[in-house]
Amino acid sequence: MTAEPSTERPELSVVIPMFNEQEVLPLLAERLRPVLDGLTDHYEVVCVDDGSSDLTPALLHKLSREWTQVRVIRLRANAGHQAAISAGLARARGDYVVTIDADLQDPPEVIAEMLQAARRDEVDVVYGVRSDRSTDSVFKRTTARMFYSFIRRISGTTAQSDAGDFRLMSRATVEAINSLPDTNRVLRFVVPALGFPSATVTYRREERAAGTSKYPFLKMLTLSIDSVTGFSLFPLRLATYLGLIGGVLMFVASIVLVVASRTPGTTIPGWTSTVVIVAGVGAVQLFCLGLLGEYVGRMYTHLQGRPAYFIASDSGAD
Ligand code: UDP
Ligand code: MG
Repeated sequence: MTAEPSTERPELSVVIPMFNEQEVLPLLAERLRPVLDGLTDHYEVVCVDDGSSDLTPALLHKLSREWTQVRVIRLRANAGHQAAISAGLARARGDYVVTIDADLQDPPEVIAEMLQAARRDEVDVVYGVRSDRSTDSVFKRTTARMFYSFIRRISGTTAQSDAGDFRLMSRATVEAINSLPDTNRVLRFVVPALGFPSATVTYRREERAAGTSKYPFLKMLTLSIDSVTGFSLFPLRLATYLGLIGGVLMFVASIVLVVASRTPGTTIPGWTSTVVIVAGVGAVQLFCLGLLGEYVGRMYTHLQGRPAYFIASDSGAD
């Protein structure tokens, strides 16, 4: 192992995932630096280059020479927004860690407010909550609202639809997240699920300062699927529910069909038995699939291995 650049732990780490952000990078540095310089002398900016193929790596290299607090972590291949943040969290050393998008949609000035709130209220997490999302498209806003209410219902998470990945976390929170064995973790659900003491700071979501969105529809869909399957066994249970509903319908229908078959001239011979058998077997199959799902779900939960608790303090430990 090479020696760490500094043995002292910074007061604040700012983790920024970046994927092909050459247009926005200079603007970001210009706006972020005064904010951080005004806060403390001991901070680090952890730029996670998520396998960019444009000038981002070169610009970051240049930036890190002009701005000594900048640390560059490059992923070998594009791993996605959430994975890039996870990589940053695993390597950030600060007492507090802020995660923020590179595109200046999250105003860096709010970091000062977050840090203040965390220290004043002695909380572990400060969520950035968007007070105004008029800069997001109507499609994005509506789908986000629907999706969050769906996921809140099926998984019992407390995640707010207006909180994204702009948040401040204490060292204890970051370590808790790093200790979680899940892959493909979606932090905006994982962090509230920890349930650590938290506060919120509201801010206005701005337009992307330059460049284009790195979140095409397909990536958004993957994120949604990861969120649902990471927190809920509801999809697995769907087959059980459908099987049960199908079974009840089949039962009612078979009575109706048998009665109908007794009335001459209403049905072709053999039709009733065929329909009843097809519907009945279908319902039983779905139900059995659901049963299998229950066991798969148990294995999945076990495999996720999420700790049942996190120790806050122990007066007897040295
Ligand atoms: N990002 C990333 N890897 C990806 C996609 C995005 O690191 O595969 C970063 C991107 O550089 C930005 C942040 O994640 O800092 C949010 O992406 P973007 O602003 O494009 O998403 P949107 O705001 O449009 O949802
Ligand atoms: Mg953005």
